[in-house]
Amino acid sequence: MNPFLDLGIRHEVVNAITEMSFEKPSPIQEKAIPVLLTGNDDFVGLAQTGTGKTAAFGLPLLELIDFTQKHPQALVLCPTRELCLQIAKDLEKFAKYIDNVSVVAVYGGANISDQLRQIRRGVQIVVATPGRMLDIIGRNAIDFSNVKYVVLDEADEMLNMGFQEDINNILSETPDTKKTWLFSATMPREVRRIAQNYMTDPHELTVGTKNTGNANIEHHYYLIKAKDKYAAFKRIVDYYPEIFGIVFCRTKIETQEIAEALVRDGYNADSLHGDLSQQQRDKVMKRYRDRSLQLLIATDVAARGIDVNDVTHVINFSLPDEVENYTHRSGRTARAGKTGVSLSLVNVKEQGKIRRIEKIIGKPFVKKEVPQGTEVCEKQLFAIVDKIRNVDINEEQINPFLPTIMESMQDLSKEDIVKRLASLEFNRFLEYYQNAPDLNLDARDSRSRDGGERGDRDDRRSRTASKGYTRLFMNLGSVDEFSRGDMLGFICNNANIPGKSVGKIDLKGVFTFFEVEDAEVNKVFEGFKGVDYNGRQVRIEVSGEERGGSREGRSRDRGSRGGDRRDRSRGERRSGGSSERRGGDRERGGFRDFSGKRKESRSRY
Ligand code: ADP
Ligand code: MG
Repeated sequence: MNPFLDLGIRHEVVNAITEMSFEKPSPIQEKAIPVLLTGNDDFVGLAQTGTGKTAAFGLPLLELIDFTQKHPQALVLCPTRELCLQIAKDLEKFAKYIDNVSVVAVYGGANISDQLRQIRRGVQIVVATPGRMLDIIGRNAIDFSNVKYVVLDEADEMLNMGFQEDINNILSETPDTKKTWLFSATMPREVRRIAQNYMTDPHELTVGTKNTGNANIEHHYYLIKAKDKYAAFKRIVDYYPEIFGIVFCRTKIETQEIAEALVRDGYNADSLHGDLSQQQRDKVMKRYRDRSLQLLIATDVAARGIDVNDVTHVINFSLPDEVENYTHRSGRTARAGKTGVSLSLVNVKEQGKIRRIEKIIGKPFVKKEVPQGTEVCEKQLFAIVDKIRNVDINEEQINPFLPTIMESMQDLSKEDIVKRLASLEFNRFLEYYQNAPDLNLDARDSRSRDGGERGDRDDRRSRTASKGYTRLFMNLGSVDEFSRGDMLGFICNNANIPGKSVGKIDLKGVFTFFEVEDAEVNKVFEGFKGVDYNGRQVRIEVSGEERGGSREGRSRDRGSRGGDRRDRSRGERRSGGSSERRGGDRERGGFRDFSGKRKESRSRY
C-alpha cells in the first residue's frame, strides 16, 4: 500500500502526488501529517529547506478543508512572492483530482484587482505574502472570520525580512479558535516568541538538527586576492562543466556587473534583483528553471525562497553582510535529499567571517584550491568526451551525408578521429589557459614577495625557506586527500624524523612544499626512496637551488629556465591585467555555445 494512504491521505491526492513522483513521505511529512490531520493542535515544525514542508502542511489541509464551502478556511503566509506562487502551485497540483478546490496567491508587485476578483469568486485557501495580505484586509475585501488554519511558512525568513508587525496584524483578523502551524528552518528568539504569543501548547517537531545547516551541503572556501575574484570565480565555474548554480552578490549593481561580464564571456547567466519588474523577474526565473540559464546571479532578498531543484552549487561571490543569511543562501542547493556545494570566494580579511559562519552551520568549511589551468583543461576535456558519447543523433538527417563523410575520413583511424573531434573544443581551452596564473592567495603572495618575478606555476622552484630549514617539494598534495596533519605524519614516518624537525607545510592541489631542518634533509631523501603512494612514485626535490633564499640563487634559476620565454608570457599577463578576461571574451563565444538554445538565449540578452 502507498505509504501516504497509510498516513491517512485520500486516494485522489495520493494519485496526484504520485504523478509528481512522491513515492514515500519525507521525514517531516511522515511525522507532521498524522499530527496535523487531527486538526486539534497548534504546531511548530523545524526542518531545513528542501525537506518537503509544503506537502507536510498542504496534504493535511486538503483533508481538513470543506470544499463544498467557498469561504477562506486556510491562510498560508510566506516571505516572498516566488515562494507564494510556488506554494499555491504545489497545493493546486496536490488537489488536482479534488473537485471545487480554489487556491489564490496574494502577493505584491502584481495587479491587485485580479487578486481581488479571485477572492470575490470564492476561495478556500489563501497563500499570501504579509504586505499584500494586509493591503487586502485594509480594503475589507476578505473575510477571515471562518479561517480554521493559519500556516506561517519560513517563519524565520519572514521575521528576517521585517514582517513581524504585519503578521501580528493579520493574525488578529483571524478567529481565536484557529490552529496555527509554524514552519521554520531555524528557531531564533523571535520565532520562539511568536510561538509563545500566538499558540497554545504547540506540538513541536524537529527533523534533523536545529539551527544547523543541511547535512547534504558541503561548504567550501577559496582564499584569493580581492582583485582576482572574478578570474577565480570563472575558473571554478569552468572546473565544473555541469554546474547549475546560484551566485550571490551583495548589491544589485554587483549582480548586474557580474551577469554582464559573464554574458560577455559567453556564459549563460542573468541577474535577479529588486529593481526588476515582476515581469522581468518571472522571465529570468523561467529561463533559469528551463535551464536556458546556467548561472543565476542574485541578491539575498531576490533569491529568498527560490525553489529550484537540482541546483548543484551556491556560489558566494561575496559573503553576506549578515552571516545569518549564509544559511538561507546555501539552502538553495541540496534540496529534496540531493547533495550540493556552497562555495565562497574569500580574501584574507574575510576569513573571520568564515569562522563565524562555521559556528552557525555547526560544520567546518573545507579550504579548496582554485584549480590550475591544466586541471580545468582536464575536466573540460572529459566533459567534451561525455558530450560526444551522449549526443543525440538525428539518424534521418545525418544518414544521407554519411557516405561522403566516411569517404573523406577514410584515411583516418578511429583514434585520429577521436583526437580531432575532442580537440575541436579542447584546443581553445588549452590556448586560453596555457599561461593562466595560480590564483590561490598563497601562491600569489609568494610571487609578490619575490618581486613579481615568478612564472605561473614556477614558484615550486623559488620560494625561500626559513633559516636553518630546507624547502622541499613533494608530488603529492591535497587532491591526494592529505590534510596538513596527514602530510606531517607521512613525512615523519617515511623519513623517520621527529615532527619538530619539520617546518612549514604548504599543501597545494597536486603537490606540497615542506620545510625540513637542514640536518635532516638527507634522511628525507633516503626515507622516500622507492616509496609509492596509491601506485604513484613519491618524488622529493629541493625547491629551488638556493637555501635560505640568496638573490644569486634565484637569478640563476631564472636564467636556466629561459628568462626570455617567461618574460614574454609575463608581459602578456600584465598588459591590461586581465588576459584571463580578455582571453575569455575571445574563447568563450566559441566554446560555450554548443547548442542552438544557448545561442538564442545569448542574443536575446
Ligand atoms: P521546503 O518547504 O521544506 O523547503 P519543499 O516543500 O519546497 O521543501 O520541497 C522541496 C522539493 O522536494 C520540492 O520540489 C518537492 O516537490 C519535493 N518533495 C517534497 N516531498 C517529496 C516527497 N515525499 N517525495 C519526493 N519529492 C518530494
Ligand atoms: Mg518551503
